[in-house]
Amino acid sequence: MTENNLVYLLENKIYINLTNLCTNDCIFCIRGLKDDVVGSNMWLSTENITAQDVISQLKEVEDKIHYGVTFCGYGEPTIKIEILKEVAKYIKENYPNTKIRVNTNGHANAIHKRNVIPELKGLVDEFSISLNGENETLYNELSQPKIKNAYEEMKSFAKEAVEAGIKTTLSVVTGYKDYKINVTECENIAKEIGANFRNREWLNNGY
Ligand code: SF4
Repeated sequence: MTENNLVYLLENKIYINLTNLCTNDCIFCIRGLKDDVVGSNMWLSTENITAQDVISQLKEVEDKIHYGVTFCGYGEPTIKIEILKEVAKYIKENYPNTKIRVNTNGHANAIHKRNVIPELKGLVDEFSISLNGENETLYNELSQPKIKNAYEEMKSFAKEAVEAGIKTTLSVVTGYKDYKINVTECENIAKEIGANFRNREWLNNGY
């Protein structure tokens, strides 16, 4: 069996792929388009992974850790919150200058039925949260969430992160098919929350 790619490199930066599970099913998710990111297959043969599995793959690319580490991949990393925390703790203890970012759909508090932000404070330096649209209807159409009240959950997660003093960016993807996103309104939502804003143009290969 080929080893699961829990850790992969993109332009020399380290990314961590903890899971293939997600509480969204975004219509533009690259999971539906291709199996790999620059040659690393993102599908895991098992969800039964441990922090040690991730750490041992991290050690293989140790020389690049100082560029920063992003939890991302083909799934929602906060679903595996305990592993995420353990790996982030390992990074912070061994490479204290390394910045850790989590790319997330912002559903963590809904998934775990508690506010996980205090647990992540000091471990995560930045959240990049998918806002995806300026209202719930558009969000639901684009993200196809599998949990209730996902849009509000995502925004309140962003608010908690900002209030905890963690750098937070809300993002949208524009240019996907004929979907029209009101970028100004999205930017205003980010401003109201106190977060940064990023408009990412849709790229066919996803990155
Ligand atoms: S939140 Fe991310 S991983 Fe989940 S379906 Fe959307 S794009 Fe894919």
